[in-house]
Amino acid sequence: MEETLRLLYLLQRVDSNLDDVEEMKGDLPEAVRTLKEEIAELDGKAAAKQQYIDEFVATRNKADNDIKDFEEKLKRYKEQQYQVRNNKEYDAITKEIEFAEESVRTLTRQFEDFENQMSVAKNELEEFNGRLSELNEVLKEKAAELSVVSKETEDEELKYNHEREKIVARLDKEILARYAKIRSGRGKAVSTIRKNSCSGCGNRVPPQHIMEIRRNDRIYLCQHCGRIIVSDELAQTATAGQ
Ligand SMILES: [Zn+2]
Repeated sequence: MEETLRLLYLLQRVDSNLDDVEEMKGDLPEAVRTLKEEIAELDGKAAAKQQYIDEFVATRNKADNDIKDFEEKLKRYKEQQYQVRNNKEYDAITKEIEFAEESVRTLTRQFEDFENQMSVAKNELEEFNGRLSELNEVLKEKAAELSVVSKETEDEELKYNHEREKIVARLDKEILARYAKIRSGRGKAVSTIRKNSCSGCGNRVPPQHIMEIRRNDRIYLCQHCGRIIVSDELAQTATAGQ
């Protein structure tokens, strides 16, 4: 039984190491994924904004050309105004002039409006692009970190899994199932006695129980958290024997 308890303690130790490895890389893949999503979303927004600006440029240029056209016409009309032969012709040309002048005013207002809206859109696009280059910088760093951690954890995982296999091979199936059940509910399945308390939950272990635990002749469960408690002495020899 002492050997079983020792193996259970070692199994918990190697499983905790595997948990640490998992935790070490756990955050980075998530961070990289989130960053990529954020960048894709911003890329889409920036492209839409750019398209909006391009369309505005076309509309603004058209307004600009229309203004020039009307101004040309106005010049011609005003020359013609001096050459009219009767009132009817004069009224007709005056109407054309009024229409052209009104059109120039309207188009000029629109042109200014387009210019204002475009400058707002350009500022927004600049903001998007600034944020994008920041995010891409962070992504580059995180991706590099992840590749380093992946390389490290690969070796560690291999080592710990190998250790685990060796321990598991020497443990009884039923005991392993008990261990797995406690671990799935509690995270850790094996605790030790620390300052007369269970290291898993911190609750006091009565002195007579500590004496029982030190005998290493049965699996003793913490009365509070249900974890398997092993004595400190056993934990120390288990580690020393490694
Ligand atoms: Zn406990």
